[in-house]
Amino acid sequence: MADTYESLLAKNKKYLWNPFTQMKEYLKEDPIIIERGQGVKLIDVNGREYYDGNASVWLNPHGHNHPYLNQAIEIQLQKIAHSTLLGMSNVPAILLAEKLVQLSPKNLQKVFFSDSGAEAVEIALKMAYLYWRHRNRPEKNTFISMKNAYHGDTVGAVSVGGMDLFHASFERMLFKSEKVPYPYPYRFAGTAEACKQESIQALEEKLKSSADQIAGLIVEPMVQGAGGMIMMPPGYLTEVARLCRQYEVLLIVDEVATGFGRTGKMFACEHENIQPDLLTVGKKLTGGYLPVAATITTDEIYEAFYGDFAEVKTFFHGHSYTGNQLGCAVALANFELYEQEDLISKVQERSLQLADLLMPFQELSHVGEVRQLGLMVGIELVKDKQTKATYAYEEAIGATVCKRARELGLFTRPLDHVITFMPPLVVTQTELHDMTTILYQAIVDVTE
Ligand SMILES: *Cc1c(COP(=O)(O)O)cnc(C)c1O
Repeated sequence: MADTYESLLAKNKKYLWNPFTQMKEYLKEDPIIIERGQGVKLIDVNGREYYDGNASVWLNPHGHNHPYLNQAIEIQLQKIAHSTLLGMSNVPAILLAEKLVQLSPKNLQKVFFSDSGAEAVEIALKMAYLYWRHRNRPEKNTFISMKNAYHGDTVGAVSVGGMDLFHASFERMLFKSEKVPYPYPYRFAGTAEACKQESIQALEEKLKSSADQIAGLIVEPMVQGAGGMIMMPPGYLTEVARLCRQYEVLLIVDEVATGFGRTGKMFACEHENIQPDLLTVGKKLTGGYLPVAATITTDEIYEAFYGDFAEVKTFFHGHSYTGNQLGCAVALANFELYEQEDLISKVQERSLQLADLLMPFQELSHVGEVRQLGLMVGIELVKDKQTKATYAYEEAIGATVCKRARELGLFTRPLDHVITFMPPLVVTQTELHDMTTILYQAIVDVTE
């Protein structure tokens, strides 16, 4: 007999510790327990439906329970679920590596797989670090990262993170990295252009004084995601890339959130035609089905590790499930759907419709700023629109709005006082309309 909601909840309480979740709050608020998904909707064990307003934490492009993706897994499963990529290979991993190289900026030629975005970042950092050792520049052994950045939750990724709420308490576990400001025009006294210039100047000063010790710079291109959906002023990324070249610092772009069409381009770095040295992807890679991530890099970095056995330049890194066949097979089917459906063009069209739908939000008395690039949206709530004063953390304003949205039939998550909206990329205009109507109502009900 199937477990009831009540018995599942009791077992959740007894056995399961949910990620990024204050269990005391979560357990007292009738948490949603999902049983199924269909298209852009999640369906819980009580049969209630919710729009998946954050694409299951930013990773679902085609909707849930997609027949083509389901089938790709079934076909692969008849052959083999998993064999190791350590010292041998497999069919879907090779084909997926080829596909990723075809999709990526043209200087990127080699793919290294892992299981999560955080791991893809760890691998990029380790590659950059060893690259300079192999090039006989071992003093280049530290990193520049952005204030308020988010690159995942493993210790290396947290070391280049900059979100105090998540990261400050781990400080003594972390390796040191140099932080530079990320331009945040809404909270800058002056124009966006001045804000950009100030950030660039700070970066250039840091590079002038310490580039000899810097292996790489890591940045979330165009949009700082978990930091609050903060969007770079145009031209900033170009300048970052230029300075990295000038000062011989490897450029690592973390496209885990922005990659695969989320911002209206296949990769966010295409907005400024940037050619990074390393690029990380994760979310959306397998259509939101299975945990596969990748670090994509240049022949030049690959060549630095290439040598005779005795030189000991092997990249000693790998995970049990690296290159998992089921995950790689569904990823290949995922990209077939992108092509069949011309998904990136659809995202661009949908983004314009979404911009219209978001217009009325700006008028609300507690909406400070609505930020959008493609189908990536952050709505920053403020206590006072004139002074831009924020709500206190304890007021949990974002969580309260999301709770109200959930009652109205939309699931999404806040980033403190910023409400995120990241629908699956296949969302229709009607669905977008319904979803934004709920979101608007939730903000009005809680803040007006
Ligand atoms: C989500 C995210 C990560 C971490 O990915 P996981 O798969 O959750 O480990 C890294 N970088 C960015 C920009 C992200 O948004």
